[in-house]
Amino acid sequence: MTFQALGLIEPLQRNLAALGYQQPTPVQQQAIPAVLAGRDLMAAAQTGTGKTAAFALPQLQRLLLEGVTAPKAVRTLVLVPTRELAEQVYQSFRSYGGNLPLKCAVAYGGVPIEGQISKLRKGLDVLVATPGRLLDLHDQAAISFELLQTLVLDEADRMLDLGFERDLDILLAAMPKQRQTLLFSATFSDAIRQLASGMLRDPVTIQVSASNTTTKTVRQWLIPTDKRSKPELLLHLLQKHRWGQVLIFVKTRKGVEALIKVLQEQGYTADAIHGDKTQPMRLRALDRFKRREVQLLVATDVAARGLDIEALPQVVNFDLPTVAEDYVHRIGRTGRAGMEGEAVSLVCADEVDLLRDIESLIGKVLPRSEEAGFEAEHRVPETGAKGAAIAAAKKAAAEAPRKKRAFTGPPGGRAAAQAQQGGKPAAAAKTGAGRSASPRTASSKPASAGTIVVSAGRGAKSLARAAGKAQAQSHPRRGKGSAR
Ligand code: AMP
Repeated sequence: MTFQALGLIEPLQRNLAALGYQQPTPVQQQAIPAVLAGRDLMAAAQTGTGKTAAFALPQLQRLLLEGVTAPKAVRTLVLVPTRELAEQVYQSFRSYGGNLPLKCAVAYGGVPIEGQISKLRKGLDVLVATPGRLLDLHDQAAISFELLQTLVLDEADRMLDLGFERDLDILLAAMPKQRQTLLFSATFSDAIRQLASGMLRDPVTIQVSASNTTTKTVRQWLIPTDKRSKPELLLHLLQKHRWGQVLIFVKTRKGVEALIKVLQEQGYTADAIHGDKTQPMRLRALDRFKRREVQLLVATDVAARGLDIEALPQVVNFDLPTVAEDYVHRIGRTGRAGMEGEAVSLVCADEVDLLRDIESLIGKVLPRSEEAGFEAEHRVPETGAKGAAIAAAKKAAAEAPRKKRAFTGPPGGRAAAQAQQGGKPAAAAKTGAGRSASPRTASSKPASAGTIVVSAGRGAKSLARAAGKAQAQSHPRRGKGSAR
């Protein structure tokens, strides 16, 4: 299959050849002819599948061949949930449409609105915008939807997650009913289906992979550990695997900053992306990471969606995401466009419930792999389809009086367990963040199916803590956390 066979004109084919795209991806093969034919689209496609080109290429072609814009008017409007994604989709339009006589611009909050108003004054062919800023522009009568030919909603599920539904309603009411609408979403949830039913006319439905599946080119596994050991474990993994560029996800802004400090103290170049950073700071951090000026990018889920970082081999979930879908989006940063990638999650006792949600969402059990010297004091139970019985048993155990709860592990506590394995107690794990990854004779070994159990006495307490949230929160070592 070639881009020519999909009906794309020569100037676009040339631009794609210059970018090194040899053949269309599955979502492009299905979407491009439908969009060129003017059909509405409902596409379940994750980041990394080539979805941006799937809507940008046929849009550019239609804009080039049909009509012209007028002052304040926009002919193709692409709505995206975040500023980072807006910037990235805009850059994609620029590179796919390089040399074409079309005017594209991007508009998002956090930067002055005046420049965006002045770009709109003469009219645009393509505007990529976040809903909030678009509403501001609309309120200020800086934009007209009169000539709007196509509306694209990119990452629509994320838009709903971020609470843009009301903004969308207002904006949709101001748009012409006669238009083409393309809806892209990582998942087809009930909320998305409802949104689609109100705005799409006889859409072509595309599903490039089963919803909520994680990309096959990403090798995923998890390392059970304790919360306080995570910084040391990460330093150890960086050293052991000699990873190059790594995108590291942390739950909170405070957590990101604390980890950056640890990494920098150890001589790593690291930058942060989270909600407290201004937009220029976030873009600069991403740019430096993309240009390989920094090795490590530490981010909250703000950065999880849409960031296009080519050929990224490694993602680390330092903390599991609180929303299971974000796991799919996070690991979508790697293994893109057919390349291989790895995603490793460091999982501690109070994340066992989150893990269960993730495994049941993706429909598979993540392989567990112990890291000697960093073993968890808790067990990470097998969940998902294979582990349904175990999950049910755990639930029953959680509901039973605590003293009756089963615990499997060698007698004699952590020290005995380590002695049994020929290891020493992990002194470093007790030092907490900020110490160097002491050289260890660490080895990674696959866990026996189902559970990983290291210690008895304290492990039993950890298991109890994992099952009881209230108890977990009162644990003195547990991080306080902060808003995302
Ligand atoms: P997207 O899913 O749109 O974020 O695209 C993911 C990555 O795939 C981006 O780096 C694109 O540049 C790349 N890409 C998109 N389409 C193709 C293609 N047909 N051939 C090679 N790479 C592609």
